[in-house]
Amino acid sequence: MYQGGLRHKVFGRDGIIWIPRPPHGRYNPPLLSHCVESGMDVCAKALGRPVVRVMRALGWLTLMIACVSAGHNAWASDEPATWLTAEKLKRLHPPSRLSAEGDLLTATLPRTSVSRHPFYGSVEAYSPLPPRRKPGEVMPLLGHAIPPQVAARLMWVPSQFFSGLDVKTPVLVVRGAHEGPTLCLTAAVHGDELNGIEMVRQVLFGLNPAKLRGTVIGVPIVNMMGFARNSRYLPDRRDLNRYFPGNPNGSLASRFAWAFFNDLVRHCDALVDIHTGSFHRTNYLQVRADLSQAPVQELARSFGEVVVLNSLGNSRSLRTAAVMQGIPAVTLEAGEPLRLQKSVVREGVGAIMTLLKKRDMIEHSAFWREPAPAIYASTWVRAQSSGILFSQVKLGAKVEKGDILGTVTNPVSGEKTRILASHAGKVIGMALDQFVLPGFAAYHLGILPVPPPDPLPPPLPAPTPATEDDGLED
Ligand SMILES: [Zn+2]
Repeated sequence: MYQGGLRHKVFGRDGIIWIPRPPHGRYNPPLLSHCVESGMDVCAKALGRPVVRVMRALGWLTLMIACVSAGHNAWASDEPATWLTAEKLKRLHPPSRLSAEGDLLTATLPRTSVSRHPFYGSVEAYSPLPPRRKPGEVMPLLGHAIPPQVAARLMWVPSQFFSGLDVKTPVLVVRGAHEGPTLCLTAAVHGDELNGIEMVRQVLFGLNPAKLRGTVIGVPIVNMMGFARNSRYLPDRRDLNRYFPGNPNGSLASRFAWAFFNDLVRHCDALVDIHTGSFHRTNYLQVRADLSQAPVQELARSFGEVVVLNSLGNSRSLRTAAVMQGIPAVTLEAGEPLRLQKSVVREGVGAIMTLLKKRDMIEHSAFWREPAPAIYASTWVRAQSSGILFSQVKLGAKVEKGDILGTVTNPVSGEKTRILASHAGKVIGMALDQFVLPGFAAYHLGILPVPPPDPLPPPLPAPTPATEDDGLED
């Protein structure tokens, strides 16, 4: 448990230990022993007590070196936090305390949800959202009781699956010392979209429960079955992001979506679902949101200087299902599928941290100013012939109407066809160089401007829903 004061964190390959850094720069021996005895730290445990005893005397640098030499890839930093495994959490806060949950559930009113959506009609009969907690109360989540000021690693197992076939999905939770909203970050709903996985990890492991207001729940890999196969889809070839909020008696995708939505998403006050481009396309960092919904617009404008695209999303996507349940939700699109892109991850983490600051969940400097996002409408420019596409523009480039975006060359006849910009705007998504067929969506142009007046513009009209599903939506 976090007990105040500065500390070093030491990562091990399989676990993390949190060790206080007292003013004289040596570790606190009783707490170090406690961590080792309670099995919190794989690294220190593997090293054994004699080594730890020597380390106690020599200080943190020795511990770091010893961990690395033992093959634990460990290092130390000054970022304070506390991480507990689910087992440790259970010992400290037995699930019996969850028996109070029943009283809690009836104590407060459920949040209001959208009763009718302009395009998707009336909202289906959902179960009511869990109520807001009173200060200091434990947060019931996945069978655990999460107290304030703690970080925990839990496992979500969809109750619908047969034993032996169930897929354990790690869930990271950081609950702050102070009451506040619950923000959920989900990634890899499409199993081949990797950038979001690292963004969720960096954000969650960078939070200090002692200073956080509210809770952040991060699911780095929602579609574990797709991820394991480098695939966008579930094993039944269904796109999970077309089956929310799901159905307990439906297809595999539908059951999985239903369980995920009910077990986790319903605990969120806001949701950011992280995606990348699909099918050999890349996306400029952008927030996609249905700006006709005022709470969604407010959320979308909290990421700082990030392109915001007014987009309805698929009616069965996670974000639409959440919005219809009354949970403001957006997707954050970043980069290419099947790749981990360091610079894209850095930008994405920056955008999410800006959101946390804007929502007063973490501290920010008195001189910090909210950067203004750019709001775009958009259009796709498609290839008109088949052949090999070579682009002449880069992602994020500003183009004028009629500018050459790329060339499609027929490999047999050598005939070249240019693809021209249909509008002036910014390239917010594009195909990687590849073989294309007529109709292939090659360039996504963001069309400025829809100038956002301060502080919050009136909600925009709902964007037109897409008529085709060729993987261009999140
Ligand atoms: Zn996706």
